[in-house]
Amino acid sequence: MTNVEHLGAIHRIDLPRIVLVGESILYKLCSVCNELDFRTALIVTGKTTYHVAGKQVQRFLEGDGLGAECIFVEDATLETVGKVTEKAEELEADVILGVGGGRNIDVAKLSAFKTSRFFISVPTVASHDGIASNLASVKGVGRPYTVKAASPIAVIMDSKIIAESPYRFTAAGCGDIISKATEVRDWRLAHDDNGDYYGGYAGNLSLMSSEHVMRQAALIKQKTQEGIRTVLEALVSCGVAMSIAGSSKPTSGSAHLFSHALDKIAEKPALHGEQCGVGVIMMAKLHRINWKAIRKSLQIIGAPTTAEELGIDQEVLVKALTIAQGVRPERYTILSRIALNETKARKLAETTGVI
Ligand SMILES: [Zn+2]
Repeated sequence: MTNVEHLGAIHRIDLPRIVLVGESILYKLCSVCNELDFRTALIVTGKTTYHVAGKQVQRFLEGDGLGAECIFVEDATLETVGKVTEKAEELEADVILGVGGGRNIDVAKLSAFKTSRFFISVPTVASHDGIASNLASVKGVGRPYTVKAASPIAVIMDSKIIAESPYRFTAAGCGDIISKATEVRDWRLAHDDNGDYYGGYAGNLSLMSSEHVMRQAALIKQKTQEGIRTVLEALVSCGVAMSIAGSSKPTSGSAHLFSHALDKIAEKPALHGEQCGVGVIMMAKLHRINWKAIRKSLQIIGAPTTAEELGIDQEVLVKALTIAQGVRPERYTILSRIALNETKARKLAETTGVI
């Protein structure tokens, strides 16, 4: 979104209307669909997530007299989105449900947007902040990495299902949230150095989520319902921050560029949030903020803080630091101000204990 749109014209914000968090609440989808007058739903899910939640969702909806069909997706590509949109039109579905992790949610979200349908987000893991945002990461769309998609009309988060998912996903979600500590500062820097639009409310909301999760690190590690809820609410807040800003800027800066760079060059990239978590430690040092406190909170949570824990070769990590800004040159960050050559990148990774 350009400055002109923000300052001159109408700034439209679409937010989720219903957000439900609680244990064993999938059945609540029926009343949500009835309340919103939906009669037919297309459920976008994967083979594993079908057994975790998709099947249950379908049964609940059918039991309540709604039409509910599943479509299984294996990747988040434009081709898959095409198949889902076709199916949604054939079914004349009122709503597209994304049930599962990032892939299913992104495909459902973009398919809903392309066919002007409503979208409901039903995450089964808490690994990233796309669960409540209006942006989708889909391969084959070229740059930028995220495209505008539908904002969920409802977000249904069953904290029991998420608590039972592998803890690695939740820890990764925390890495994504904690990374906002530098991402928001990158955005502010883009405003100061580059004249970019900066929205204080969206920025503060995102920053608050990061600080809250850092403070609650020990509780999260205990894997209690309260800990899970803290993570889920923070992820929703980050999604809302994106919707308010009309862009991913409040949630995606230098630590995310580093993660995108790893996705490009690492043989086997780690989870998005895990990479952002390691990225924020180093970017915090460049921003001259308390990177040790950030690292400590990630360690308490049990998220990776080193190249080794990411399962990524040290040389690849250093290389990723040097090419990160080039992945998305138009997004101004601390890496636009401080260009990292190989020597500087290595030193940064070494002094922060990442390598
Ligand atoms: Zn992220």
